[in-house]
Amino acid sequence: MYADDIVICTTGSDIPNAISLLERTIGNTATYLTSLGLDICAQKMELIIFNGKNNPPGSESIRIGDSTIYNSPTVKFLGVLFDQKLKFDHHVNEVYGSKLEDGVSTGMAWFCPELERTESISVNVQASIFTAECLVVNRTLDLVKEYPNRSFSICTDSLACINTLQNPVRKLSNKYMEEILEKVKIYNEANHLPHKPKFMWVPAHTGLTDNEEVDKIAKDVAKDATTIPHHLYWKLPAADIRISMAEQMWDDAIAAWRRKADTGHCNSTGTKYFSTYFQNKKKPWFDGIKLPRNIITWVCRARANHHNLGESLHKINLTNSPMCQCGTNKHNFNHILWQCTLLEQHRKQLTNDLRRKGWQSPWNIETFLSKPCINELKIISRFLQKYNISI
Ligand SMILES: [Zn+2]
Repeated sequence: MYADDIVICTTGSDIPNAISLLERTIGNTATYLTSLGLDICAQKMELIIFNGKNNPPGSESIRIGDSTIYNSPTVKFLGVLFDQKLKFDHHVNEVYGSKLEDGVSTGMAWFCPELERTESISVNVQASIFTAECLVVNRTLDLVKEYPNRSFSICTDSLACINTLQNPVRKLSNKYMEEILEKVKIYNEANHLPHKPKFMWVPAHTGLTDNEEVDKIAKDVAKDATTIPHHLYWKLPAADIRISMAEQMWDDAIAAWRRKADTGHCNSTGTKYFSTYFQNKKKPWFDGIKLPRNIITWVCRARANHHNLGESLHKINLTNSPMCQCGTNKHNFNHILWQCTLLEQHRKQLTNDLRRKGWQSPWNIETFLSKPCINELKIISRFLQKYNISI
């Protein structure tokens, strides 16, 4: 049994007050409904704030049990579309656009509940999300054009699209977005067209019935291999192909390096790097970290296992022996930092500083390099610099 159409309104001096009162009231209502053997379905709930302002969608929320309900710019009740300024100018035709990938192709769809019209499109799976979103919004504007006497609200979950519409960048690399801006410009400049289409952002996958509906249509078209001929018509912008090619080149390069590291022969290169430090990230480990160049340099050398210590130099036949001056046959990072007897007195400060940071021996340079632990690397760097140890 369903009990529909319950509205709970609260007022308050500010939004947090009104929301807190609302949550308490919903709690009381839920308790009462439970005593009647009824339950509240949080997924079907909607929240709207009437304060005469443009509250961005998703900027406020209420909690009901485990669910969060975000505010929407409009809410439909008994067939009337309420907007947050109570202007009722949104009581118009809504068009929802959506996009989904499913291996075979990228499916997109729009859906206009009032007109009961829909269109689904599929493009090459290499289309960027932005292209797909622009394409579907672009198509909704063609629908708008067919009905000059009606008002339309175009609802999309693409924030990138809405942001570009609000602040178009001077040089656009997406022809579908260029077309959208051109079409919007025509509407805005045409005095004989009384209704300009409005764009609205709706949060994705929050249970909005119409948005879920269009998601389903887009999903079906993405799965359907017979829609592939659309690819021939909806051409991809060059930027999307560049992105896709760059992705492919990245994957190929990583695979080639990995093959070299995994040969299992003595001529393998990068074996240690791949097993210890490799993360499939396009930005280097020091991205966004303010570090002196000398630290970046020695850390990179250490991670690559190509450095100025005996073990590495001997490996590439630059020295006759991998030995340290102390007589040990392995002149490497861990040796000079923690073991070499010639540096025993020197490393007191180093080990004290690391202990103060909570590290207990035995230490291992790989631990600090792999994360990487920046403060610890700075401590090690001070030691290397102070005793003129060239890496
Ligand atoms: Zn030594």
